[in-house]
Amino acid sequence: MSKNIKILVDTHTHTNCSDHAFGSLCENIHYGKQNGMQMVCMTNHAPAIPDSAHIWHFITMHELPDYIEGVRLLCGCEANILNKDGNIDMTEEHLRKMDVVIASIHRPCYESRELADHTETWLNVIENPYVNILGHSGNPLFPYDKDVVIRAAKEKNKCIEINNHSYSVREGSRENCRAIAEKCKELGCRIVVGSDAHTPFDVGSFGKAAEMLEEIDFPEELIMNTTPEKFLSYLRSVGRDV
Ligand SMILES: [Zn+2]
Ligand SMILES: [Zn+2]
Repeated sequence: MSKNIKILVDTHTHTNCSDHAFGSLCENIHYGKQNGMQMVCMTNHAPAIPDSAHIWHFITMHELPDYIEGVRLLCGCEANILNKDGNIDMTEEHLRKMDVVIASIHRPCYESRELADHTETWLNVIENPYVNILGHSGNPLFPYDKDVVIRAAKEKNKCIEINNHSYSVREGSRENCRAIAEKCKELGCRIVVGSDAHTPFDVGSFGKAAEMLEEIDFPEELIMNTTPEKFLSYLRSVGRDV
C-alpha cells in the first residue's frame, strides 16, 4: 500500500447523547468534514453500558437526513457484548433498521475470563447476522485466538476494526492492534479504521492506526472505509439497506 493512506469514512463516532462524549451530531459532522471526511457513522453506545444513549435515540435517529453539510451520515450503534454466548444489548427489531452495527466488549458489561472464553465470545458474535464490525478487539484486557477468530470473521464477511482511540485509552493496544492487522493481512480479512471519536475534533483522526497500517504495508483493498462508495457497497453486500 502506498504511503499516506486516505480514509474518507469514519465508521465509529460518539455524540453528546452520552455525557462522556462532547460533540453534537452537527459539530461532529462539521469538524469531520474539516478533517476530510465524506461520510460519518454515528455509532453511540447501546443501553447496557453506563452513560449510554437511551433506546429512543436509536428509534428517532432514522429521522435524520442522509446528508449534513454535504457529508453522508450513516446511523448505527456500538452494541455491548454481554456474555460468552455473544449476546448483545440491542434487539433484532432495532438492529435490522440500522445502517451499521459495531459490537464491542466493554468492561462494565462483560466479565473477563480466559483467552478461550474471549475466543468463544467473538466466534458467537460473528454468527450474529446484524453485526458488521468487531469493535476494538485489540484491547489487551480481552485477548483471543487471533487465527481462529479472524478466520471466522473473514468467512462471515465481518470487518475487524482498527480503532485509533485504543492507542490513547487502552494500554498495550499498540502491539496487539498491529498483530491483529498482520493476521488480517495474512488471512485476507476485511478491516475498517475507526476514530472512536468522543469529541468533534477527533472525527476523522486515524493517525496512529493509519501509520501502523502503512508500516506493515497493509493491502488497501481490504480496508472497507477508504471511500463512501466502497463502504456502502460492503454494507449492501451484507444485506444493509443503505
Ligand atoms: Zn467501545
Ligand atoms: Zn466507541
